[in-house]
Amino acid sequence: MPRHTKIVATLGPASSDPAVLERIIRAGVDVVRLNFSHGKAQDHIDRATLVREVAARVGKPVAIMADLQGPKIRVGKFAEGKVMLEAGAPFVLDACRTEPGDLGGVGLDYKELPRDVRPGDTLLLNDGLIVLVVELVRGDKVHTVVKIGGELSNNKGINKQGGGLTAPALTSKDMEDIKTAMSFQCEYLAVSFPKSAIDMEMARQLANVAGEPWRHKPGMIAKIERTEAIPQLEAILKASDGIMVARGDLAVEVGNAAVPALQKKMIRMAREMDKVVITATQMMESMIQNPVPTRAEVSDVANAVLDGTDAVMLSAETAAGKYPVETVEQMVAIAEAAEAAEEVRFEADMGSRTVGRIDQSIAMGALFTAHHLGCKAILALTESGSTALWMSRHRIDVPIYALTTQPLSERKMALYRNVRPILMPKFEDRDTALAAAEQLLVERGVLRPGDTYAITCGEPMGYPGGTNMLKVCRVG
Ligand code: PGA
Ligand code: MN
Repeated sequence: MPRHTKIVATLGPASSDPAVLERIIRAGVDVVRLNFSHGKAQDHIDRATLVREVAARVGKPVAIMADLQGPKIRVGKFAEGKVMLEAGAPFVLDACRTEPGDLGGVGLDYKELPRDVRPGDTLLLNDGLIVLVVELVRGDKVHTVVKIGGELSNNKGINKQGGGLTAPALTSKDMEDIKTAMSFQCEYLAVSFPKSAIDMEMARQLANVAGEPWRHKPGMIAKIERTEAIPQLEAILKASDGIMVARGDLAVEVGNAAVPALQKKMIRMAREMDKVVITATQMMESMIQNPVPTRAEVSDVANAVLDGTDAVMLSAETAAGKYPVETVEQMVAIAEAAEAAEEVRFEADMGSRTVGRIDQSIAMGALFTAHHLGCKAILALTESGSTALWMSRHRIDVPIYALTTQPLSERKMALYRNVRPILMPKFEDRDTALAAAEQLLVERGVLRPGDTYAITCGEPMGYPGGTNMLKVCRVG
Protein backbone atom coordinates (compact mmCIF):
# COMPACT_ATOMS: atom_id res chain seq x y z
CA MET A 1 0.00 0.00 0.00
CA PRO A 2 1.33 3.45 -0.83
CA ARG A 3 1.58 5.91 2.07
CA HIS A 4 -1.69 7.63 3.03
CA THR A 5 -0.48 10.35 5.39
CA LYS A 6 1.13 13.39 3.81
CA ILE A 7 4.17 15.30 5.00
CA VAL A 8 4.44 19.08 5.26
CA ALA A 9 7.99 20.40 5.61
CA THR A 10 9.00 23.95 6.44
CA LEU A 11 11.69 25.42 4.23
CA GLY A 12 14.55 27.30 5.85
CA PRO A 13 18.32 27.63 5.77
CA ALA A 14 18.75 23.87 6.30
CA SER A 15 16.63 22.95 3.29
CA SER A 16 16.81 25.80 0.77
CA ASP A 17 19.78 24.36 -1.04
CA PRO A 18 18.38 22.83 -4.27
CA ALA A 19 20.08 19.49 -3.65
CA VAL A 20 18.68 19.18 -0.10
CA LEU A 21 15.25 20.30 -1.23
CA GLU A 22 15.29 17.69 -3.94
CA ARG A 23 16.28 15.02 -1.43
CA ILE A 24 13.50 15.87 1.04
CA ILE A 25 10.93 15.92 -1.77
CA ARG A 26 12.15 12.56 -3.04
CA ALA A 27 12.13 11.27 0.55
CA GLY A 28 8.42 12.06 0.86
CA VAL A 29 7.57 15.75 1.32
CA ASP A 30 4.19 16.56 -0.26
CA VAL A 31 3.68 20.14 0.87
CA VAL A 32 6.33 22.79 1.41
CA ARG A 33 5.58 25.44 4.03
CA LEU A 34 7.01 28.91 3.64
CA ASN A 35 7.06 30.56 7.06
CA PHE A 36 6.41 34.29 6.70
CA SER A 37 7.54 34.86 10.29
CA HIS A 38 11.04 34.82 8.89
CA GLY A 39 12.65 36.37 5.83
CA LYS A 40 11.74 39.00 3.30
CA ALA A 41 9.21 38.89 0.48
CA GLN A 42 11.92 38.21 -2.10
CA ASP A 43 13.26 35.24 -0.08
CA HIS A 44 9.82 33.61 -0.23
CA ILE A 45 9.44 34.33 -3.94
CA ASP A 46 12.86 32.78 -4.60
CA ARG A 47 12.03 29.73 -2.48
CA ALA A 48 8.67 29.26 -4.18
CA THR A 49 10.39 29.38 -7.58
CA LEU A 50 12.88 26.80 -6.39
CA VAL A 51 10.13 24.50 -5.09
CA ARG A 52 8.35 24.65 -8.47
CA GLU A 53 11.60 23.88 -10.31
CA VAL A 54 12.61 20.99 -8.09
CA ALA A 55 9.09 19.49 -8.04
CA ALA A 56 9.05 19.61 -11.85
CA ARG A 57 12.46 17.92 -11.98
CA VAL A 58 11.37 15.19 -9.57
CA GLY A 59 8.07 14.86 -11.43
CA LYS A 60 5.91 15.00 -8.30
CA PRO A 61 3.02 17.32 -7.42
CA VAL A 62 4.11 19.46 -4.47
CA ALA A 63 1.86 22.10 -2.92
CA ILE A 64 3.14 25.31 -1.39
CA MET A 65 1.61 26.55 1.86
CA ALA A 66 2.34 30.18 2.70
CA ASP A 67 2.06 30.59 6.47
CA LEU A 68 1.37 34.17 7.59
CA GLN A 69 3.07 35.46 10.70
CA GLY A 70 -0.09 36.88 12.25
CA PRO A 71 -0.13 39.02 15.34
CA LYS A 72 2.61 37.18 17.16
CA ILE A 73 3.03 39.22 20.28
CA ARG A 74 6.67 39.68 21.08
CA VAL A 75 9.03 41.42 23.42
CA GLY A 76 11.51 43.88 21.93
CA LYS A 77 15.27 43.55 21.85
CA PHE A 78 17.79 43.49 24.68
CA ALA A 79 20.98 45.52 24.94
CA GLU A 80 22.95 42.28 25.32
CA GLY A 81 20.69 40.21 23.07
CA LYS A 82 19.29 38.35 26.10
CA VAL A 83 18.85 38.38 29.87
CA MET A 84 18.70 35.66 32.52
CA LEU A 85 15.47 36.08 34.51
CA GLU A 86 15.42 34.84 38.11
CA ALA A 87 12.28 33.58 39.81
CA GLY A 88 10.86 36.18 42.19
CA ALA A 89 12.42 39.17 40.42
CA PRO A 90 10.30 42.06 39.11
CA PHE A 91 10.18 42.55 35.35
CA VAL A 92 8.43 45.34 33.45
CA LEU A 93 6.93 44.97 29.97
CA ASP A 94 6.75 48.53 28.67
CA ALA A 95 4.87 49.39 25.47
CA CYS A 96 6.56 52.81 25.31
CA ARG A 97 10.10 51.74 26.02
CA THR A 98 12.40 52.65 23.14
CA GLU A 99 15.78 51.80 24.65
CA PRO A 100 16.91 48.16 24.53
CA GLY A 101 15.85 45.88 27.35
CA ASP A 102 17.76 44.78 30.45
CA LEU A 103 17.19 42.75 33.62
CA GLY A 104 14.53 45.24 34.79
CA GLY A 105 12.34 45.11 31.72
CA VAL A 106 11.93 45.23 27.97
CA GLY A 107 9.91 46.99 25.26
CA LEU A 108 7.01 45.42 23.35
CA ASP A 109 6.19 45.37 19.70
CA TYR A 110 2.50 44.80 20.60
CA LYS A 111 1.46 48.14 22.07
CA GLU A 112 -1.98 46.98 23.21
CA LEU A 113 -0.71 44.52 25.80
CA PRO A 114 -1.24 46.84 28.81
CA ARG A 115 -4.92 47.14 27.82
CA ASP A 116 -5.37 43.36 27.47
CA VAL A 117 -4.03 42.23 30.86
CA ARG A 118 -5.10 42.54 34.51
CA PRO A 119 -3.33 41.85 37.80
CA GLY A 120 -3.19 38.11 38.41
CA ASP A 121 -2.91 37.20 34.70
CA THR A 122 -0.23 34.72 33.71
CA LEU A 123 1.99 35.58 30.74
CA LEU A 124 4.03 32.90 29.05
CA LEU A 125 7.14 33.84 27.14
CA ASN A 126 9.29 31.86 24.76
CA ASP A 127 6.68 29.11 24.19
CA GLY A 128 5.90 28.85 27.86
CA LEU A 129 9.45 28.34 29.12
CA ILE A 130 9.28 31.60 31.09
CA VAL A 131 6.27 32.50 33.22
CA LEU A 132 5.44 36.01 34.44
CA VAL A 133 2.56 36.97 36.72
CA VAL A 134 1.03 40.42 36.28
CA GLU A 135 1.11 42.48 39.50
CA LEU A 136 -0.01 45.85 38.30
CA VAL A 137 -0.73 47.72 35.08
CA ARG A 138 0.10 51.40 35.07
CA GLY A 139 -0.21 53.36 31.82
CA ASP A 140 1.91 51.64 29.23
CA LYS A 141 3.76 49.52 31.76
CA VAL A 142 2.89 45.99 32.78
CA HIS A 143 4.62 45.24 36.09
CA THR A 144 5.18 41.53 36.58
CA VAL A 145 6.97 39.11 38.86
CA VAL A 146 8.95 36.24 37.38
CA LYS A 147 7.38 32.95 38.42
CA ILE A 148 9.57 30.67 36.31
CA GLY A 149 12.83 32.18 35.17
CA GLY A 150 15.24 31.41 32.38
CA GLU A 151 16.97 32.96 29.44
CA LEU A 152 14.88 35.51 27.56
CA SER A 153 16.31 36.70 24.26
CA ASN A 154 15.32 39.21 21.58
CA ASN A 155 11.80 39.13 20.08
CA LYS A 156 10.52 36.09 21.94
CA GLY A 157 6.75 35.54 21.77
CA ILE A 158 4.28 36.31 24.55
CA ASN A 159 1.06 34.40 25.17
CA LYS A 160 -1.57 34.98 27.81
CA GLN A 161 -2.79 31.87 29.57
CA GLY A 162 -6.47 31.38 28.83
CA GLY A 163 -6.35 33.70 25.83
CA GLY A 164 -7.81 37.19 25.67
CA LEU A 165 -5.27 39.20 23.69
CA THR A 166 -7.21 41.47 21.35
CA ALA A 167 -4.70 41.70 18.49
CA PRO A 168 -6.49 41.32 15.13
CA ALA A 169 -5.63 38.14 13.21
CA LEU A 170 -4.40 40.00 10.13
CA THR A 171 -1.69 42.59 10.55
CA SER A 172 -0.63 45.06 7.87
CA LYS A 173 2.43 42.86 7.30
CA ASP A 174 0.12 39.87 6.70
CA MET A 175 -1.83 41.87 4.11
CA GLU A 176 1.39 42.60 2.21
CA ASP A 177 2.50 38.98 2.58
CA ILE A 178 -0.80 37.76 1.11
CA LYS A 179 0.03 39.72 -2.07
CA THR A 180 3.49 38.16 -2.17
CA ALA A 181 2.07 34.66 -1.66
CA MET A 182 -0.52 35.14 -4.40
CA SER A 183 2.18 36.29 -6.82
CA PHE A 184 3.55 32.73 -6.75
CA GLN A 185 0.08 31.23 -6.45
CA CYS A 186 0.51 29.25 -3.27
CA GLU A 187 -1.94 26.35 -3.12
CA TYR A 188 -2.61 26.97 0.57
CA LEU A 189 -2.61 30.07 2.72
CA ALA A 190 -2.34 29.49 6.48
CA VAL A 191 -3.72 32.18 8.78
CA SER A 192 -2.15 32.46 12.23
CA PHE A 193 -4.19 33.08 15.40
CA PRO A 194 -7.68 33.38 13.88
CA LYS A 195 -10.29 33.88 16.61
CA SER A 196 -13.41 33.47 14.53
CA ALA A 197 -14.88 32.61 11.14
CA ILE A 198 -14.79 36.32 10.29
CA ASP A 199 -10.99 36.34 10.47
CA MET A 200 -10.91 33.51 7.94
CA GLU A 201 -13.50 35.11 5.67
CA MET A 202 -11.52 38.33 5.66
CA ALA A 203 -8.28 36.53 4.85
CA ARG A 204 -9.96 34.60 2.06
CA GLN A 205 -11.37 37.77 0.56
CA LEU A 206 -7.96 39.48 0.64
CA ALA A 207 -6.33 36.42 -0.92
CA ASN A 208 -8.92 36.13 -3.66
CA VAL A 209 -8.60 39.83 -4.54
CA ALA A 210 -4.79 39.61 -4.56
CA GLY A 211 -5.00 36.42 -6.66
CA GLU A 212 -7.41 37.95 -9.18
CA PRO A 213 -4.77 38.69 -11.90
CA TRP A 214 -4.09 34.94 -12.06
CA ARG A 215 -7.67 33.91 -11.23
CA HIS A 216 -6.04 32.15 -8.32
CA LYS A 217 -7.90 31.04 -5.21
CA PRO A 218 -5.83 29.30 -2.54
CA GLY A 219 -7.12 26.78 -0.02
CA MET A 220 -7.46 28.58 3.32
CA ILE A 221 -6.00 26.90 6.42
CA ALA A 222 -6.94 28.18 9.89
CA LYS A 223 -4.21 27.63 12.46
CA ILE A 224 -5.97 26.72 15.68
CA GLU A 225 -3.73 28.22 18.33
CA ARG A 226 -5.87 30.54 20.41
CA THR A 227 -8.13 29.71 23.33
CA GLU A 228 -10.88 31.75 21.68
CA ALA A 229 -10.80 29.59 18.54
CA ILE A 230 -11.85 26.42 20.37
CA PRO A 231 -15.54 27.26 20.95
CA GLN A 232 -15.60 28.70 17.41
CA LEU A 233 -14.16 25.59 15.81
CA GLU A 234 -17.21 24.59 13.82
CA ALA A 235 -17.71 28.09 12.39
CA ILE A 236 -13.99 28.44 11.64
CA LEU A 237 -14.01 25.06 9.85
CA LYS A 238 -17.01 26.13 7.78
CA ALA A 239 -15.20 29.29 6.72
CA SER A 240 -11.95 27.45 5.86
CA ASP A 241 -10.72 24.64 3.63
CA GLY A 242 -8.74 23.12 6.44
CA ILE A 243 -7.18 23.61 9.85
CA MET A 244 -3.79 23.18 11.42
CA VAL A 245 -3.53 21.80 14.94
CA ALA A 246 -0.89 24.41 15.83
CA ARG A 247 0.24 22.77 19.01
CA GLY A 248 3.02 25.22 19.82
CA ASP A 249 0.99 28.30 20.59
CA LEU A 250 -2.13 26.30 21.40
CA ALA A 251 -0.37 24.42 24.19
CA VAL A 252 0.84 27.66 25.71
CA GLU A 253 -2.64 29.18 25.68
CA VAL A 254 -4.74 26.21 26.81
CA GLY A 255 -2.10 24.30 28.77
CA ASN A 256 -0.10 21.31 27.50
CA ALA A 257 -2.39 18.72 29.05
CA ALA A 258 -5.44 19.82 27.06
CA VAL A 259 -3.78 19.50 23.66
CA PRO A 260 -3.91 15.73 22.91
CA ALA A 261 -7.68 15.58 23.37
CA LEU A 262 -8.12 18.77 21.34
CA GLN A 263 -6.01 17.27 18.56
CA LYS A 264 -8.31 14.25 18.36
CA LYS A 265 -11.40 16.42 18.41
CA MET A 266 -10.08 18.76 15.72
CA ILE A 267 -9.09 15.90 13.41
CA ARG A 268 -12.47 14.23 13.83
CA MET A 269 -14.42 17.44 13.27
CA ALA A 270 -12.38 18.42 10.22
CA ARG A 271 -12.95 15.04 8.58
CA GLU A 272 -16.64 15.04 9.36
CA MET A 273 -16.97 18.48 7.80
CA ASP A 274 -15.02 17.49 4.65
CA LYS A 275 -12.04 19.68 5.54
CA VAL A 276 -8.34 18.87 5.63
CA VAL A 277 -6.26 18.84 8.80
CA ILE A 278 -2.54 19.18 9.48
CA THR A 279 -0.98 18.18 12.80
CA ALA A 280 1.95 20.45 13.59
CA THR A 281 4.81 21.38 15.88
CA GLN A 282 7.53 19.49 17.72
CA MET A 283 6.64 16.20 16.05
CA MET A 284 10.29 15.27 15.57
CA GLU A 285 11.79 18.10 17.64
CA SER A 286 14.82 16.21 18.91
CA MET A 287 15.91 15.54 15.32
CA ILE A 288 16.85 19.20 15.02
CA GLN A 289 19.99 18.00 16.82
CA ASN A 290 19.96 14.19 16.66
CA PRO A 291 19.92 11.68 13.82
CA VAL A 292 17.15 9.61 15.45
CA PRO A 293 13.84 10.62 17.08
CA THR A 294 12.85 9.87 20.67
CA ARG A 295 10.40 7.04 21.36
CA ALA A 296 7.86 9.64 22.45
CA GLU A 297 8.16 11.45 19.11
CA VAL A 298 7.67 8.20 17.23
CA SER A 299 4.49 7.59 19.21
CA ASP A 300 3.32 11.14 18.68
CA VAL A 301 3.61 10.92 14.88
CA ALA A 302 2.03 7.44 14.85
CA ASN A 303 -0.88 8.64 17.00
CA ALA A 304 -1.58 11.61 14.74
CA VAL A 305 -1.67 9.16 11.83
CA LEU A 306 -4.07 6.88 13.74
CA ASP A 307 -6.20 9.91 14.67
CA GLY A 308 -6.69 10.36 10.91
CA THR A 309 -4.73 13.52 10.19
CA ASP A 310 -4.19 14.34 6.52
CA ALA A 311 -0.64 15.46 7.17
CA VAL A 312 2.05 15.68 9.80
CA MET A 313 4.20 18.78 9.76
CA LEU A 314 7.87 19.53 10.32
CA SER A 315 8.96 23.00 11.39
CA ALA A 316 12.49 23.68 12.61
CA GLU A 317 13.37 20.02 11.95
CA THR A 318 13.59 20.73 8.22
CA ALA A 319 13.98 24.53 8.35
CA ALA A 320 16.97 24.74 10.64
CA GLY A 321 17.82 21.21 11.80
CA LYS A 322 20.94 19.18 11.22
CA TYR A 323 19.13 16.21 9.66
CA PRO A 324 16.34 17.42 7.34
CA VAL A 325 16.48 14.41 5.01
CA GLU A 326 16.74 11.82 7.77
CA THR A 327 13.82 13.45 9.59
CA VAL A 328 11.56 13.08 6.56
CA GLU A 329 12.72 9.48 6.03
CA GLN A 330 11.95 8.59 9.65
CA MET A 331 8.56 10.28 9.49
CA VAL A 332 7.69 8.29 6.38
CA ALA A 333 8.67 5.06 8.10
CA ILE A 334 6.58 5.85 11.19
CA ALA A 335 3.54 6.83 9.11
CA GLU A 336 3.76 3.69 6.99
CA ALA A 337 4.05 1.42 10.01
CA ALA A 338 1.12 3.09 11.76
CA GLU A 339 -1.02 2.86 8.63
CA ALA A 340 -0.19 -0.80 8.16
CA ALA A 341 -1.35 -1.51 11.71
CA GLU A 342 -4.49 0.57 11.39
CA GLU A 343 -7.78 -1.24 11.55
CA VAL A 344 -10.12 -0.17 8.76
CA ARG A 345 -13.71 -0.34 9.97
CA PHE A 346 -15.34 0.94 6.86
CA GLU A 347 -19.02 0.71 7.77
CA ALA A 348 -18.51 2.06 11.27
CA ASP A 349 -16.49 4.95 9.91
CA MET A 350 -19.21 5.87 7.44
CA GLY A 351 -21.45 6.12 10.49
CA SER A 352 -24.65 8.03 10.12
CA ARG A 353 -23.43 10.28 7.34
CA THR A 354 -26.14 11.49 5.06
CA VAL A 355 -25.28 12.62 1.57
CA GLY A 356 -27.47 15.04 -0.34
CA ARG A 357 -25.43 15.73 -3.45
CA ILE A 358 -25.12 13.62 -6.59
CA ASP A 359 -21.33 13.96 -6.86
CA GLN A 360 -20.87 13.21 -3.18
CA SER A 361 -23.09 10.13 -3.30
CA ILE A 362 -21.12 8.84 -6.28
CA ALA A 363 -17.92 9.33 -4.28
CA MET A 364 -19.37 7.38 -1.34
CA GLY A 365 -20.68 4.71 -3.70
CA ALA A 366 -17.20 4.27 -5.14
CA LEU A 367 -15.76 3.73 -1.66
CA PHE A 368 -18.44 1.21 -0.75
CA THR A 369 -18.04 -0.70 -4.00
CA ALA A 370 -14.24 -0.71 -4.02
CA HIS A 371 -14.08 -1.81 -0.38
CA HIS A 372 -16.52 -4.68 -0.79
CA LEU A 373 -15.22 -5.89 -4.14
CA GLY A 374 -11.62 -5.61 -2.95
CA CYS A 375 -10.70 -3.32 -5.84
CA LYS A 376 -7.05 -2.59 -6.50
CA ALA A 377 -7.65 1.16 -6.72
CA ILE A 378 -10.25 3.89 -6.89
CA LEU A 379 -9.82 6.33 -9.75
CA ALA A 380 -11.53 9.70 -9.60
CA LEU A 381 -11.64 11.95 -12.64
CA THR A 382 -11.99 15.30 -10.95
CA GLU A 383 -11.68 18.93 -12.01
CA SER A 384 -11.71 20.74 -8.67
CA GLY A 385 -10.58 17.76 -6.60
CA SER A 386 -13.74 17.73 -4.50
CA THR A 387 -14.60 14.11 -5.36
CA ALA A 388 -11.18 13.04 -4.13
CA LEU A 389 -11.57 15.15 -1.00
CA TRP A 390 -14.87 13.48 -0.08
CA MET A 391 -13.45 10.04 -0.71
CA SER A 392 -10.40 10.81 1.39
CA ARG A 393 -12.49 11.75 4.47
CA HIS A 394 -13.04 8.02 5.10
CA ARG A 395 -10.64 5.31 6.11
CA ILE A 396 -10.43 2.69 3.43
CA ASP A 397 -7.94 0.02 2.48
CA VAL A 398 -8.05 0.93 -1.20
CA PRO A 399 -5.75 3.66 -2.57
CA ILE A 400 -7.36 6.64 -4.31
CA TYR A 401 -5.87 8.06 -7.52
CA ALA A 402 -7.23 11.46 -8.51
CA LEU A 403 -6.86 12.32 -12.18
CA THR A 404 -7.32 15.95 -13.11
CA THR A 405 -6.66 18.22 -16.06
CA GLN A 406 -6.05 21.15 -13.68
CA PRO A 407 -2.46 21.61 -12.46
CA LEU A 408 -3.68 23.65 -9.47
CA SER A 409 -6.07 20.87 -8.40
CA GLU A 410 -3.28 18.35 -8.81
CA ARG A 411 -1.04 20.24 -6.40
CA LYS A 412 -3.84 21.01 -3.91
CA MET A 413 -4.69 17.33 -3.67
CA ALA A 414 -1.09 16.58 -2.63
CA LEU A 415 -2.29 17.37 0.91
CA TYR A 416 -5.26 14.97 0.97
CA ARG A 417 -4.85 11.77 2.91
CA ASN A 418 -4.78 8.64 0.77
CA VAL A 419 -5.00 10.60 -2.49
CA ARG A 420 -2.36 10.41 -5.18
CA PRO A 421 -2.98 13.18 -7.70
CA ILE A 422 -2.10 12.66 -11.36
CA LEU A 423 -2.28 15.21 -14.14
CA MET A 424 -3.97 13.95 -17.30
CA PRO A 425 -4.71 15.53 -20.71
CA LYS A 426 -8.15 16.90 -21.45
CA PHE A 427 -10.55 14.67 -23.42
CA GLU A 428 -13.99 15.69 -24.64
CA ASP A 429 -15.17 12.11 -25.01
CA ARG A 430 -15.93 10.13 -21.87
CA ASP A 431 -14.82 6.70 -23.06
CA THR A 432 -11.52 8.06 -24.36
CA ALA A 433 -10.89 9.69 -20.98
CA LEU A 434 -11.73 6.49 -19.07
CA ALA A 435 -9.40 4.45 -21.27
CA ALA A 436 -6.62 7.04 -20.89
CA ALA A 437 -7.02 6.99 -17.10
CA GLU A 438 -6.67 3.20 -17.01
CA GLN A 439 -3.67 3.41 -19.32
CA LEU A 440 -1.95 5.96 -17.02
CA LEU A 441 -2.30 3.67 -14.01
CA VAL A 442 -1.13 0.64 -15.94
CA GLU A 443 1.95 2.62 -17.04
CA ARG A 444 2.62 3.51 -13.41
CA GLY A 445 2.45 -0.13 -12.44
CA VAL A 446 -0.58 0.42 -10.16
CA LEU A 447 -2.95 -1.66 -12.28
CA ARG A 448 -2.16 -4.95 -13.99
CA PRO A 449 -4.18 -7.16 -16.32
CA GLY A 450 -6.99 -8.82 -14.38
CA ASP A 451 -7.18 -6.12 -11.66
CA THR A 452 -10.53 -4.56 -10.89
CA TYR A 453 -10.92 -0.88 -10.07
CA ALA A 454 -13.71 1.61 -9.50
CA ILE A 455 -13.70 4.83 -11.48
CA THR A 456 -15.86 7.95 -11.15
CA CYS A 457 -16.38 10.75 -13.64
CA GLY A 458 -18.85 13.37 -14.80
CA GLU A 459 -20.80 13.39 -18.00
CA PRO A 460 -20.52 15.71 -19.85
CA MET A 461 -16.81 15.89 -19.03
CA GLY A 462 -14.93 18.81 -17.59
CA TYR A 463 -17.36 20.51 -15.22
CA PRO A 464 -16.38 20.96 -11.58
CA GLY A 465 -18.96 19.31 -9.34
CA GLY A 466 -20.23 17.27 -12.31
CA THR A 467 -19.36 13.78 -11.10
CA ASN A 468 -22.42 11.58 -11.75
CA MET A 469 -21.06 8.22 -12.84
CA LEU A 470 -19.43 5.21 -11.22
CA LYS A 471 -18.05 2.32 -13.23
CA VAL A 472 -16.35 -0.87 -12.10
CA CYS A 473 -13.82 -2.18 -14.61
CA ARG A 474 -11.39 -5.02 -15.04
CA VAL A 475 -8.09 -4.37 -16.74
CA GLY A 476 -8.09 -6.35 -20.00
P1 PGA B 1 4.07 28.65 14.26
O1 PGA B 1 2.70 27.88 14.30
O2 PGA B 1 5.14 27.65 14.03
O3 PGA B 1 3.91 29.61 13.15
O4 PGA B 1 4.11 29.32 15.60
C1 PGA B 1 2.57 26.55 14.72
C2 PGA B 1 2.27 26.45 16.20
O5 PGA B 1 2.05 27.44 16.90
O6 PGA B 1 2.25 25.30 16.65
MN1 MN C 1 1.94 29.41 16.17
